[in-house]
Amino acid sequence: MQAVGTDIDAATAVTEWLQSNWNPDLTVGEWWELLGSSGWAAPTLPEGCYGKGLSRAEGVRVQETIASFGALPAPGGLGLLLAAPTIATHGTPEQQERYVRPIVTGQQAWCQLFSEPGAGSDLASLQCRAERDGDEWVVTGQKVWTSGGQIADVGMLLARTNPDVPKHQGITYFAFDMRQPGVEVRPLREMTGRALFNEVFITEARVSDSAVIGGTNNGWAVANTTLAFERAGLGAGGGSAAVSPAAPGSIAGDLDRRAGDLVGSRVRGGAGGPGGMLGTARLLQTLARQVGANTDPLVRQDLARLYTLTEIGRFQGLRSRALRATGSDIPGMGNIAKLSMSIILRLSRDLGLRLLGPRGTLHGYDAASSEALAGLPGGPLGSMVTEMALFAQAPQIYGGTDEIQHNIIGERVLGLPKEPNNDKVTPFRDLPRN
Ligand SMILES: Cc1cc2nc3c(=O)[nH]c(=O)nc-3n(C[C@H](O)[C@H](O)[C@H](O)COP(=O)(O)OP(=O)(O)OC[C@H]3O[C@@H](n4cnc5c(N)ncnc54)[C@H](O)[C@@H]3O)c2cc1C
Repeated sequence: MQAVGTDIDAATAVTEWLQSNWNPDLTVGEWWELLGSSGWAAPTLPEGCYGKGLSRAEGVRVQETIASFGALPAPGGLGLLLAAPTIATHGTPEQQERYVRPIVTGQQAWCQLFSEPGAGSDLASLQCRAERDGDEWVVTGQKVWTSGGQIADVGMLLARTNPDVPKHQGITYFAFDMRQPGVEVRPLREMTGRALFNEVFITEARVSDSAVIGGTNNGWAVANTTLAFERAGLGAGGGSAAVSPAAPGSIAGDLDRRAGDLVGSRVRGGAGGPGGMLGTARLLQTLARQVGANTDPLVRQDLARLYTLTEIGRFQGLRSRALRATGSDIPGMGNIAKLSMSIILRLSRDLGLRLLGPRGTLHGYDAASSEALAGLPGGPLGSMVTEMALFAQAPQIYGGTDEIQHNIIGERVLGLPKEPNNDKVTPFRDLPRN
């Protein structure tokens, strides 16, 4: 792996590497193997764990450089965004080799098996249970809202391994094989028309004890690491994860395709994902001009607000980066970044729909209907706005709702008193259940 010294700019270093290594005739799998093993697929991971120890802002810059060079970006998805940095933090060296390598080289896709029908905001109330059987654990329970479960090879599974202690203390974090008897993945259709997330029913499925990440009954601490990466990655000014038009893993079927054929094609999941949201300030300025609303003082005010909020997000990212370089950090920054993202998206949704007027009530759920709507006011941008408006409800829910982010900032950053409850002292089995 090439080391990036403080005197070598990350963008220059990755460009030099791309000049010698990018070849559009490689298969996606072969290209990702090169990119991942070089440390450039996930450069924010530590050196020695398939990364280069770069800051989040530098990592974003590297991903932008790969895209603007015209090479196929690194494999995206929850493996790279969440599982790899979590295992880099809590996994043994053997686990890092077993799990992180196939993530950064795109060979395996991951999903997050945290939420359950009765455990979302109150995640520590989860009821999915794992019982020890020799060198293995037997898992039974139900998960929900599992993004990418339909193409995942492995899941970050939280399961209850000790119901006799208070709820936060009896949870274990597993790397769970999704393709085995006893695992049923059922798609859930969203208002965007897509089915990106799923319900997962687990009935006496098995996971090896060697797949426990961070120690038995220590899953709450490990899960909090994953959630911190999720908030920081999804928040305004975050966006460390690569956004690739090719999907990782053995199930999506992209690994054998020619890498060059996918460059520049539409990102799976479309403009609805957070990666596509950050450019909305520019998109809405163009739309305002197109529909002749760019002189409307109220529209101008909202455009200015949107631009300001986006810039504040960027500055927050830079400020965090500067502080981290000195070994310090700003408490709650990930929570604040995620809240800012929700605010930006809601404002974008409201402004976009206002600019479209009655056209905003129509959405093309497939390429043919989007094309048919392109002749209406707003043109092709209209479909991007309705796509974004339908998706804008999601980021204020996933990775912890806005209300939960406020609670965390209040309690853990500002030191306000917690709501009284006996969760911390009562064994899980004695707590009232949903
Ligand atoms: C697009 C999308 C993708 C997702 N992907 C995944 C995934 O891949 N894996 C996964 O495990 N989960 C995933 N989730 C689930 C997500 O993490 C949960 O939806 C979220 O944590 C909220 O839980 P809940 O839906 O059970 O709502 P609830 O927890 O039931 O909350 C309902 C409402 O009550 C409010 N509320 C709850 N508790 C409090 C409190 N203490 N104080 C104030 N208000 C409160 C909430 O803010 C919310 O408005 C996804 C969700 C979405 C929308």
